[in-house]
Amino acid sequence: MSIVSNQVAATWARRKTRQVRVGQVRIGSDAPIAVQSMTNTDTADVLATAMQVAELARAGSEMVRVTVNNDEAARAVPHIRDRLLALNMDVPLVGDFHYNGHKLLSDHPACAEALAKLRINPGNVGAGAKRDPQFAAIVEIACKYDKPVRIGVNWGSLDQSVLARVMDHNARQPEPRDAGAVMREALVVSALESAAKAEEYGLPGDRIILSAKVSSVQDLIAVYRDLGARCDYPLHLGLTEAGMGSKGIVASTAALAVLLQEGIGDTIRVSLTPEPNGRRTEEVVVAQEILQTMGLRAFTPMVTACPGCGRTTSTFFQELASGIQGYVREQMPTWREERDGVENLTLAVMGCVVNGPGESKHANIGISLPGTGESPAAPVYVDGVKTVTLRGDNIAVEFRAIVDQYIETRYPKKKAG
Ligand code: SF4
Repeated sequence: MSIVSNQVAATWARRKTRQVRVGQVRIGSDAPIAVQSMTNTDTADVLATAMQVAELARAGSEMVRVTVNNDEAARAVPHIRDRLLALNMDVPLVGDFHYNGHKLLSDHPACAEALAKLRINPGNVGAGAKRDPQFAAIVEIACKYDKPVRIGVNWGSLDQSVLARVMDHNARQPEPRDAGAVMREALVVSALESAAKAEEYGLPGDRIILSAKVSSVQDLIAVYRDLGARCDYPLHLGLTEAGMGSKGIVASTAALAVLLQEGIGDTIRVSLTPEPNGRRTEEVVVAQEILQTMGLRAFTPMVTACPGCGRTTSTFFQELASGIQGYVREQMPTWREERDGVENLTLAVMGCVVNGPGESKHANIGISLPGTGESPAAPVYVDGVKTVTLRGDNIAVEFRAIVDQYIETRYPKKKAG
C-alpha cells in the first residue's frame, strides 16, 4: 500500500506567467491552479442554467462557462448572474462565443457586462475578410468592459488559413515535418498570433489566457510544452472531448498530470461526457482530485483505502470508505465556510491488519477493519496513536463521530466578523 502524500516534489516549479483576474479569481503566476467547468443546459433557460452553475460552484468550480450562442442566451446571461447573486454565489461566469460573438456582445451590452471573461475561438470568429474585423470587435468590447479573454484554439476548428500557411512553410523546408507536427505547430501559431493581434487591438497582455486543445494525450502534451515555452500568458489546460467514464478520467489525468508536473497550466477543465442522467459535477470532482492527489492543492479530506483482497470477505470496508468519502465531500462546502484547513485532513479505511495500522498511522484518522479470521475489532488511530477499538454493528456511525469530533477540536469555527 502506498502512502498518500500531500507534499509536492522539491523539484516542482511553476512556469512563470503574467497574472489575469477573472472576477475575484486570479489566474497564473503564484495564484493557485483554478478549477473550472462548463454547463450543458440551454443558456436561454435562466433557471436551469443558474441552478447548474450553482451546483458546479458548490462542488468547487471556481469559474463556470456557459455557451452564448444566440440572442436568447445573451439576454439570459445577466439574469443568470442576478439569480446567482441572490443565492450569494459570486462565481465568475465565462461566455463561450462562436461565429456570432461580435454581434451578440454588441447587441447585448448587459451580457458583456455580466460576464467575467469571454472565450473566443480564432477558428470560429469569422471566415475570410470578416475574420479580423469581427475578432477586433470582440476585443474592443472586452476592452470597453474591462474583461479578460481566453483565446481558445481547438484542433476540431483550427483556423484553416493558419494551417495552410504553416503547411506551405513546412513544405518549403529541406526536411519537412510530418502532418501531426504541422498540425500542432498550426495550433500554437494560431493561439500566439491571435494573442498578438488582440494586444495590437488594445487588449492588455494581462487580460489574455490561452488554450490549445486536442483530444490525443500525446499531442496535448506536445502542444502545451511548446506553447508554454513560447509565451508567458497563463494557460488553460484541458483535453478536449475526453470521453465518458473511466476513459475520460484516465485520458484527462494522464495528459494534465504530465503537464502540471512540469509546471505548465494555470487553470484546468476536465471535459467529461456525463453518463446518461449522470452528474455534471463529476468533472469538477475529477479536476480537484487531479490537483489534490498531485499535492498541488487541497480541496476536501482525502480517504486512502486499500483495494481489498482475499482477506476481506465482506463489502463492509468498501461501504465504510465510500460512505466516509461521500460524507466529507458533502460537508465540505459548510466546513470550508466555517473552518480553516479541513481540506488537509487525511483519512484511511483499511480492510485488515496486514497494512491497516501502518497506513492508519500515516493518516490523521485511520481505521483497520477486521479481515477474515481476525478478531471482530477495528482499531482507530488518531494522529498516529491508537485511541480506541470499535466493535459491533455501529462502527460506521462511531467512526463518523470520531471524524466530526476531530474536526471540531482540530479546526475550530472561525470567529464571526
Ligand atoms: S485487506 Fe489487508 S492485505 Fe488485503 S489489500 Fe487490504 S490491507 Fe492489504
